[in-house]
Amino acid sequence: MTLEQSASNRPPSRTAVFVDRDGVINRERRDYVTRWDDFCFLPGAVEALVALTRAGLDVIVITNQSAIHRGIVTAATVDGLHQRMVEVLRRAGGCVLAIYVCPHTPDEGCACRKPQPGLLLQAAREHGLDLARCYLIGDKLSDMEAGMAVGCRCLLVRTGLDAPPADTIVTERYRVFPSIREAVDAILVDAFPVGSERPLEMAQWRLEARTVPPAAPPIEPARN
Ligand SMILES: [Mg+2]
Ligand SMILES: [Zn+2]
Repeated sequence: MTLEQSASNRPPSRTAVFVDRDGVINRERRDYVTRWDDFCFLPGAVEALVALTRAGLDVIVITNQSAIHRGIVTAATVDGLHQRMVEVLRRAGGCVLAIYVCPHTPDEGCACRKPQPGLLLQAAREHGLDLARCYLIGDKLSDMEAGMAVGCRCLLVRTGLDAPPADTIVTERYRVFPSIREAVDAILVDAFPVGSERPLEMAQWRLEARTVPPAAPPIEPARN
Protein backbone atom coordinates (compact mmCIF):
# COMPACT_ATOMS: atom_id res chain seq x y z
CA MET A 1 0.00 0.00 0.00
CA THR A 2 1.39 3.40 -0.92
CA LEU A 3 1.37 6.31 1.45
CA GLU A 4 -1.19 8.06 -0.71
CA GLN A 5 -3.54 5.10 -0.54
CA SER A 6 -3.25 4.89 3.20
CA ALA A 7 -4.08 8.60 3.45
CA SER A 8 -7.24 8.10 1.40
CA ASN A 9 -8.16 5.09 3.55
CA ARG A 10 -8.37 7.21 6.67
CA PRO A 11 -11.46 6.60 8.78
CA PRO A 12 -14.29 9.05 8.02
CA SER A 13 -13.64 12.35 9.77
CA ARG A 14 -15.08 12.79 13.20
CA THR A 15 -16.95 15.80 14.47
CA ALA A 16 -14.81 18.23 16.42
CA VAL A 17 -15.97 21.02 18.66
CA PHE A 18 -13.55 23.95 18.67
CA VAL A 19 -13.67 25.75 21.99
CA ASP A 20 -12.19 29.16 22.75
CA ARG A 21 -10.51 29.35 26.16
CA ASP A 22 -10.80 32.69 27.96
CA GLY A 23 -14.41 33.72 28.57
CA VAL A 24 -15.70 30.29 27.55
CA ILE A 25 -13.86 27.66 29.62
CA ASN A 26 -12.29 29.92 32.23
CA ARG A 27 -13.18 33.33 33.55
CA GLU A 28 -11.73 36.07 31.37
CA ARG A 29 -9.51 38.69 33.02
CA ARG A 30 -8.78 42.25 32.02
CA ASP A 31 -5.12 41.37 32.29
CA TYR A 32 -3.77 37.94 31.33
CA VAL A 33 -3.91 34.48 32.83
CA THR A 34 -0.24 33.97 33.73
CA ARG A 35 -0.41 31.40 36.55
CA TRP A 36 -2.71 28.62 37.66
CA ASP A 37 -4.21 30.78 40.42
CA ASP A 38 -5.56 33.05 37.64
CA PHE A 39 -7.24 30.13 35.92
CA CYS A 40 -10.81 29.85 37.18
CA PHE A 41 -13.20 27.45 35.43
CA LEU A 42 -16.55 29.05 34.59
CA PRO A 43 -19.61 27.38 36.13
CA GLY A 44 -20.61 24.29 34.14
CA ALA A 45 -17.58 24.41 31.82
CA VAL A 46 -15.94 21.21 33.03
CA GLU A 47 -19.22 19.30 32.90
CA ALA A 48 -19.99 20.65 29.42
CA LEU A 49 -16.62 19.54 28.04
CA VAL A 50 -17.00 16.13 29.68
CA ALA A 51 -20.42 15.81 28.03
CA LEU A 52 -18.85 16.39 24.61
CA THR A 53 -16.28 13.67 25.27
CA ARG A 54 -18.93 11.22 26.44
CA ALA A 55 -20.92 11.91 23.29
CA GLY A 56 -17.87 10.96 21.23
CA LEU A 57 -17.12 14.46 19.97
CA ASP A 58 -13.52 15.70 19.83
CA VAL A 59 -12.74 18.81 21.85
CA ILE A 60 -10.08 21.09 20.37
CA VAL A 61 -9.16 24.32 22.18
CA ILE A 62 -8.29 27.28 19.93
CA THR A 63 -6.93 30.29 21.80
CA ASN A 64 -5.32 33.67 21.12
CA GLN A 65 -2.57 34.24 23.71
CA SER A 66 -0.86 37.44 22.64
CA ALA A 67 0.58 37.72 26.16
CA ILE A 68 3.30 35.35 24.89
CA HIS A 69 4.67 37.74 22.26
CA ARG A 70 3.98 40.72 24.51
CA GLY A 71 6.56 39.16 26.82
CA ILE A 72 4.09 38.85 29.71
CA VAL A 73 4.15 35.06 29.87
CA THR A 74 6.30 32.39 28.23
CA ALA A 75 4.96 29.78 25.84
CA ALA A 76 6.19 27.15 28.30
CA THR A 77 4.11 28.67 31.11
CA VAL A 78 1.01 28.72 28.91
CA ASP A 79 1.75 25.10 28.06
CA GLY A 80 1.97 24.27 31.76
CA LEU A 81 -1.39 25.96 32.43
CA HIS A 82 -2.93 23.92 29.63
CA GLN A 83 -1.52 20.70 31.03
CA ARG A 84 -3.17 21.46 34.36
CA MET A 85 -6.45 22.38 32.65
CA VAL A 86 -6.37 19.11 30.68
CA GLU A 87 -5.62 17.17 33.87
CA VAL A 88 -8.67 18.62 35.64
CA LEU A 89 -10.82 17.70 32.65
CA ARG A 90 -9.27 14.23 32.41
CA ARG A 91 -10.05 13.48 36.06
CA ALA A 92 -13.66 14.52 35.44
CA GLY A 93 -13.88 12.19 32.44
CA GLY A 94 -13.19 14.67 29.66
CA CYS A 95 -10.63 14.56 26.89
CA VAL A 96 -9.03 17.40 24.97
CA LEU A 97 -7.77 16.19 21.60
CA ALA A 98 -5.51 19.20 20.98
CA ILE A 99 -4.85 22.79 21.99
CA TYR A 100 -3.80 25.34 19.37
CA VAL A 101 -2.34 28.64 20.56
CA CYS A 102 -1.68 31.82 18.60
CA PRO A 103 1.15 33.62 20.44
CA HIS A 104 1.16 36.69 18.17
CA THR A 105 0.12 40.26 18.85
CA PRO A 106 -2.42 41.91 16.53
CA ASP A 107 0.42 44.00 14.99
CA GLU A 108 2.21 40.94 13.70
CA GLY A 109 -0.51 40.27 11.11
CA CYS A 110 -0.27 36.49 11.47
CA ALA A 111 -2.68 34.06 9.84
CA CYS A 112 -3.54 32.31 13.09
CA ARG A 113 -4.85 35.00 15.44
CA LYS A 114 -8.66 34.89 15.38
CA PRO A 115 -10.57 36.27 13.47
CA GLN A 116 -8.07 34.65 11.08
CA PRO A 117 -8.97 30.96 10.66
CA GLY A 118 -5.37 29.69 10.44
CA LEU A 119 -5.52 27.50 13.55
CA LEU A 120 -8.85 25.97 12.50
CA LEU A 121 -7.37 25.09 9.10
CA GLN A 122 -4.26 23.63 10.75
CA ALA A 123 -6.39 21.52 13.11
CA ALA A 124 -8.49 20.29 10.18
CA ARG A 125 -5.34 19.27 8.29
CA GLU A 126 -3.72 17.58 11.26
CA HIS A 127 -6.80 15.69 12.43
CA GLY A 128 -8.60 15.03 9.14
CA LEU A 129 -11.62 17.10 10.10
CA ASP A 130 -14.50 18.06 7.85
CA LEU A 131 -14.94 21.68 8.95
CA ALA A 132 -18.54 21.82 7.73
CA ARG A 133 -19.36 19.18 10.35
CA CYS A 134 -17.48 20.95 13.14
CA TYR A 135 -18.76 23.38 15.75
CA LEU A 136 -17.07 26.39 17.32
CA ILE A 137 -17.91 27.91 20.70
CA GLY A 138 -16.54 31.39 21.43
CA ASP A 139 -17.34 34.54 23.37
CA LYS A 140 -16.22 37.15 20.83
CA LEU A 141 -17.27 38.14 17.34
CA SER A 142 -13.68 37.39 16.27
CA ASP A 143 -14.29 33.76 17.23
CA MET A 144 -17.48 33.71 15.17
CA GLU A 145 -15.69 35.27 12.18
CA ALA A 146 -12.95 32.64 12.27
CA GLY A 147 -15.46 29.81 12.45
CA MET A 148 -17.75 31.20 9.79
CA ALA A 149 -14.78 31.75 7.44
CA VAL A 150 -14.25 27.99 7.29
CA GLY A 151 -17.89 26.92 7.42
CA CYS A 152 -18.16 25.72 11.03
CA ARG A 153 -21.41 25.92 12.91
CA CYS A 154 -20.79 28.74 15.39
CA LEU A 155 -22.14 29.32 18.89
CA LEU A 156 -21.58 32.54 20.81
CA VAL A 157 -21.66 32.44 24.60
CA ARG A 158 -22.17 35.49 26.76
CA THR A 159 -19.71 34.66 29.54
CA GLY A 160 -16.83 36.83 28.30
CA LEU A 161 -16.05 40.23 29.76
CA ASP A 162 -17.17 42.07 26.64
CA ALA A 163 -20.27 40.31 25.40
CA PRO A 164 -20.98 41.74 21.93
CA PRO A 165 -23.84 44.27 21.94
CA ALA A 166 -27.16 42.88 20.77
CA ASP A 167 -27.17 44.94 17.55
CA THR A 168 -23.90 43.35 16.38
CA ILE A 169 -25.18 39.82 16.75
CA VAL A 170 -26.12 38.17 13.47
CA THR A 171 -28.32 35.35 14.63
CA GLU A 172 -28.83 33.96 11.13
CA ARG A 173 -25.13 33.08 11.04
CA TYR A 174 -24.52 31.88 14.59
CA ARG A 175 -26.53 31.11 17.67
CA VAL A 176 -26.24 32.82 21.06
CA PHE A 177 -26.31 31.11 24.47
CA PRO A 178 -25.89 32.24 28.09
CA SER A 179 -22.90 29.92 28.66
CA ILE A 180 -21.00 26.88 27.37
CA ARG A 181 -23.49 24.66 29.21
CA GLU A 182 -26.41 25.64 26.97
CA ALA A 183 -24.18 25.78 23.87
CA VAL A 184 -23.05 22.18 24.40
CA ASP A 185 -26.63 21.10 25.02
CA ALA A 186 -27.55 22.60 21.63
CA ILE A 187 -24.60 20.89 19.92
CA LEU A 188 -25.62 17.52 21.33
CA VAL A 189 -29.17 17.99 20.07
CA ASP A 190 -27.85 19.07 16.66
CA ALA A 191 -25.25 16.32 16.34
CA PHE A 192 -27.62 13.58 17.55
CA PRO A 193 -31.07 14.50 16.25
CA VAL A 194 -34.14 12.73 17.61
CA GLY A 195 -34.24 9.21 16.23
CA SER A 196 -30.48 8.87 15.99
CA GLU A 197 -28.51 6.80 18.46
CA ARG A 198 -27.90 9.01 21.46
CA PRO A 199 -25.26 8.17 24.01
CA LEU A 200 -26.87 7.44 27.36
CA GLU A 201 -24.58 9.89 29.11
CA MET A 202 -25.88 12.62 26.85
CA ALA A 203 -29.44 12.08 27.99
CA GLN A 204 -28.24 12.19 31.59
CA TRP A 205 -26.30 15.37 30.91
CA ARG A 206 -29.34 17.05 29.44
CA LEU A 207 -31.39 16.07 32.46
CA GLU A 208 -28.77 17.54 34.80
CA ALA A 209 -28.50 20.69 32.71
CA ARG A 210 -32.19 21.32 33.21
CA THR A 211 -32.16 20.73 36.93
CA VAL A 212 -29.07 22.80 37.78
CA PRO A 213 -29.67 26.50 37.18
CA PRO A 214 -26.64 28.12 35.52
CA ALA A 215 -24.80 30.44 37.87
CA ALA A 216 -23.93 33.85 36.50
CA PRO A 217 -20.18 34.44 36.79
CA PRO A 218 -19.25 37.60 38.66
CA ILE A 219 -17.74 40.18 36.33
CA GLU A 220 -14.38 41.52 37.38
CA PRO A 221 -14.05 45.28 37.59
CA ALA A 222 -12.01 46.88 34.81
CA ARG A 223 -8.38 47.37 35.68
CA ASN A 224 -6.11 49.96 34.18
MG1 LIG B 1 -12.46 34.36 24.50
ZN1 LIG C 1 -0.86 33.98 15.31
